[in-house]
Amino acid sequence: MAVLVTGGAGYIGSHAVAALLEKGEEVVIVDNLYQGHRDAVLGGKLYEGDLRDADFLGKVFQENDIDGVIHFAANSLVGESMKDPGKYYHNNVYGTLCLLEQMQKAGVSRIVFSSTAATYGEPERVPIDEYDRTLPTNTYGETKLAMEKMIRWFEVAHGIKFVSLRYFNAAGAHASGRIGEDHQPETHLVPLVLQVALGQREQISVFGDDYATEDGTCIRDYIHVSDLADAHILALERLRKGGESAIYNLGSGNGYSVKQVIEVSRKVTGHSISAKIEPRRAGDPAVLIASSQRARNELGWSPKREKLEDIVTSAWDWHRSHPNGYEK
Ligand code: UDP
Repeated sequence: MAVLVTGGAGYIGSHAVAALLEKGEEVVIVDNLYQGHRDAVLGGKLYEGDLRDADFLGKVFQENDIDGVIHFAANSLVGESMKDPGKYYHNNVYGTLCLLEQMQKAGVSRIVFSSTAATYGEPERVPIDEYDRTLPTNTYGETKLAMEKMIRWFEVAHGIKFVSLRYFNAAGAHASGRIGEDHQPETHLVPLVLQVALGQREQISVFGDDYATEDGTCIRDYIHVSDLADAHILALERLRKGGESAIYNLGSGNGYSVKQVIEVSRKVTGHSISAKIEPRRAGDPAVLIASSQRARNELGWSPKREKLEDIVTSAWDWHRSHPNGYEK
């Protein structure tokens, strides 16, 4: 039996593929390689193609004995989603519909879904738990919430069981040094700050210092990408054992402001890292911090690399050894 990983050549997907391979799982990967990288796939069988191509995806299900899906393939940039919502509805929502239809056709009834804290929007309280209100402030979060709900209705009608994992801010890189974060264009805070340290960028823009937080900059909960990867394996195990569908937050429970991330990065890299205050970015909530108690209790998950300094150090190791990402 094989696990199908959609988006397995992307940042988080490639770390999940690595974790599955380490467990001895047979892995099939589908990725259209728009954002993903062939070199990020450390093993398994890679099919290059798009979820929205029914003939292509049908063939993947026909050729492999798939017993579960881990679904990462999606666009995931808050800023871009506010400028081009149609792209997000098409790739994320319609792409998920195509996947679910093929799963139903092939009789595959387990899916672990890559969701996001952006489904909550501006939280009513922190830390956020899974029963809290979901009112996304950006199109990206709205499409992820729509995807979660779609999967839920496929459960009702067709018995597809799911675990939806709502990640907070993924950062860091694999301990092997072989895979890490490489987005084109890069928009995430940690890699951008490290690009300044590498001399690839003059300064880091701080998007707003007038939020209702202690230093005025946004607070996020940073979680190591390999800790996220581990949670997907535990979620799959839960479904294989016949566990009920569930939604879990994944975060460290610690919040760091943008200014604190820059400060920690200065310490880790030994570079001064120049920063400039810019206007707020559309769609950004002030504070996002997870309560991951449920994942800890029910999945037996716990993050192993919790300190921001360790997360930034692992990212720094990757960026230093791959200053141009996967590009040779
Ligand atoms: N951010 C920033 N400057 C940048 C990129 C990000 O100030 O160049 C801020 C962003 O506004 C947010 C936090 O850093 O408050 C984390 O943003 P990121 O894009 O890394 O992740 P997101 O929270 O959008 O998933």
